[in-house]
Amino acid sequence: MAFKTHNNFIAGRWVPSMTGTTYTITNPARKNEVLGEFQSSTQEDAQRAVAMAADALKGWAETPAPSRAAVLFRALSILESRADEMARSITTEEGKPLLDSQGEVKRAMNIIEYAAGEGRRMFGYTTPSEMPSTMAYTIRRPLGVVAIITPWNFPLAIPAWKIAPALICGNTLVFKPASSTPATAVKFVEVFEEAGLPSGVLNLVTGPGSSVGNTLVESSEVKGISFTGSTEIGTGIYAEGARSLKKVQCEMGGKNAVILMADADLDKAVHGIVQGAFGSTGQRCTATSRVIVEEGVYDEFMDQLIDRTGKLKIGDGLDPEVDVSPLASQSQFDIVTDYIGMGTEEGARLAYGGNALAGGIYDQGYYVGPTIFTDVDPYMRIAQEEIFGPVLTVFKAKDLAEAIEISNSVKFGLSSSIYTRDLTQAFQYVHTVETGMVHINSPTLGGEVHLPFGGLKSSGVGHREQGVEAMEFFSEVITVYVDYAGTPRQ
Ligand code: NDP
Repeated sequence: MAFKTHNNFIAGRWVPSMTGTTYTITNPARKNEVLGEFQSSTQEDAQRAVAMAADALKGWAETPAPSRAAVLFRALSILESRADEMARSITTEEGKPLLDSQGEVKRAMNIIEYAAGEGRRMFGYTTPSEMPSTMAYTIRRPLGVVAIITPWNFPLAIPAWKIAPALICGNTLVFKPASSTPATAVKFVEVFEEAGLPSGVLNLVTGPGSSVGNTLVESSEVKGISFTGSTEIGTGIYAEGARSLKKVQCEMGGKNAVILMADADLDKAVHGIVQGAFGSTGQRCTATSRVIVEEGVYDEFMDQLIDRTGKLKIGDGLDPEVDVSPLASQSQFDIVTDYIGMGTEEGARLAYGGNALAGGIYDQGYYVGPTIFTDVDPYMRIAQEEIFGPVLTVFKAKDLAEAIEISNSVKFGLSSSIYTRDLTQAFQYVHTVETGMVHINSPTLGGEVHLPFGGLKSSGVGHREQGVEAMEFFSEVITVYVDYAGTPRQ
């Protein structure tokens, strides 16, 4: 079957990379289905995009913020009209179930709406000066050219929650999506093109992180970097960005834990844990990968967990009945199956699953079934490292203090949750758990776009994303003093 070749978007035009080299991507549910051909861009392409973004900066920065908002509102309605197409694009290139992809489109719409609303706020503040006849206030200015570097697991929502606030603040952008999910990125940029975003304000360059991404990070014309991805790559980007005093935000890996106390609503907890661990095939940064269970409820919990996990339907994400779809790529498949092997070697007990699936449609994609390990020592590698697949590790704790100790024993600190009906336990937890997002009686997942999103420790550095914090990251605050005394000061 013929497939389309997609270009980069630079200075308002769809153009091939300078070398003309391309690569293809395939559907993780059907490895033989090629979805399209994309530019394998080079340093030169990235440099050109930066130069074009720099050229467009003055015009966009001087466009009044409410007029910038008008473009975002138009983008919102175009995205809404293309919502089904976008959701299918996410599922076919990333693999997640269609319902999850539809949720992702809605989330992207929400953030665009929220950011557009900020166009009529963009507040500074006034404050009394210590001097007479003096006014003191602050205003906001854009950073300048900003690099947007995104992972494959949310090919629409993560670009949206960076691009929309960056645009409303008046920045111009070079967007480098993950190499394995460029199709949704192309469609998203088309939305802004159709919305009438001026040329050069948003540029898209596809291709390897090691060349395109790295060039953006090293460019002296780039003043800010908004990165989401692995802790390993994010740490390098943060260090490199600091060398040239760029403003950098990195949202990175997680190893999110749920604590289940004996007094909790067990049915609700099991529902949230199964959804958190196996939804989107465990490939969310906020996925639940550990459960720490108070001793008294452990056996009953395990029975219910295994029973409910056994009812999950595994298959192609385009099938509306499917709960768990394939992993996103061969490399994800290799990583996850390696960790499952490692768990057994480390001495953990495989309580459920543990297999790459075979036969029928499973032979066509990267299918690994939901997997549960018990008898896990908190210091095993499967307990400490981000697996990023449908693998759940279960621990026993004698009380809340021990459960929190296990929860905090990892280098990550993104999201966490406790199930309990006891207010005292819940608030002790809120104030001691080492994560940037804390849930009581709800899964470790997700977040609302008007609230800050991000992690502590090795999960996040720099300003939080979304909410008003996003405006803080994507703008500089300028302090203004006005002496209106009319005579020289004594
Ligand atoms: P990676 O770190 O591998 O890649 C992220 C992005 O960085 C990709 O666009 C990649 O390009 C690019 N990149 C790679 N190397 C460089 C480099 N040297 N310089 C600049 N850019 C580079 O992450 P994944 O895409 O594998 O995403 C999964 C990770 O993302 C998980 O760890 C997950 O937890 C995390 N994540 C965190 C979230 C959060 O908010 N905390 C949310 C979602 C995911 P290329 O694809 O070409 O390699």
